[in-house]
Amino acid sequence: MKLIRFGEPRRERPGLQLPSGIRVDASGAVGDYDEAFFEDGGVDRLRRWEAEAAPRAPALPPAMRLGPPIARPGKIVCVGLNYRDHAAESGMDIPKEPVLFLKATSAIVGPDDAVVIPRGGSKLDYEVELGVVIGRRASYLEPERAMSHVAGYVLMNDYSERAFQLERAGQWVKGKSCDTFAPIGPFVATADEIPDPHRLTIWLAVNGVRRQDSSTMNMIFDVPTLVSYVSQFMTLRAGDVISTGTPPGVGFGVKPVPQYLREGDIVTLGIDGLGASCQKVLGSA
Ligand code: ZN
Repeated sequence: MKLIRFGEPRRERPGLQLPSGIRVDASGAVGDYDEAFFEDGGVDRLRRWEAEAAPRAPALPPAMRLGPPIARPGKIVCVGLNYRDHAAESGMDIPKEPVLFLKATSAIVGPDDAVVIPRGGSKLDYEVELGVVIGRRASYLEPERAMSHVAGYVLMNDYSERAFQLERAGQWVKGKSCDTFAPIGPFVATADEIPDPHRLTIWLAVNGVRRQDSSTMNMIFDVPTLVSYVSQFMTLRAGDVISTGTPPGVGFGVKPVPQYLREGDIVTLGIDGLGASCQKVLGSA
């Protein structure tokens, strides 16, 4: 199944994108795609509804705005430097264990909403990533059991302001959490739709020019390893997202001079089976 949320910002309602591509309103069947939905068997209930009632549900106009396909999660845990070549282009060693940081959930926007250059920002950069949506509470999980705690997968753009991230004191979180820095979607694909998350083409273009073009098979730490690893340090709750790192090609890595995004640029990105998204860069907040 493909879970969507639609409508005005902060007033989104749950829906489904059917196999035909038609999007329907599912708010008559479920409340929202939040922690309770995932933890309490909402995916199974929705699957029954899709089979029985979805074909008769109101279809949404194709131009309807999509919001983030999950209600604001408790946390976004990001993995740094999880593709070998990206670690190299960043001039950093391949990590011996996953590098983790958090991204504020207030940064989340819909898949085709604009990204806004933060006040004082000058080095806006993009990172296409595979997001893993947690389906069941996970604490001290063995890797062998990790996949049964995954509800599905989603396309993410982990926007970064590199000056805030790398040239200001302290941790990366300041350069990762500005408003609009986490476009998610267009949909959450439930885990059954993505039998192997480690064989997906992953790409991003700026103004139509391919800048990132790779496969999730190049990840250093795979999905079960990451879910298990994160759960050794914090409890993962249903609806939380792990963003699994970006392949090479970010603006920061362009030699000899990094190429950052500018007002008016159009960023498009996609992952096999998870659709595509598009963000226009707006001037300073
Ligand atoms: Zn990232």
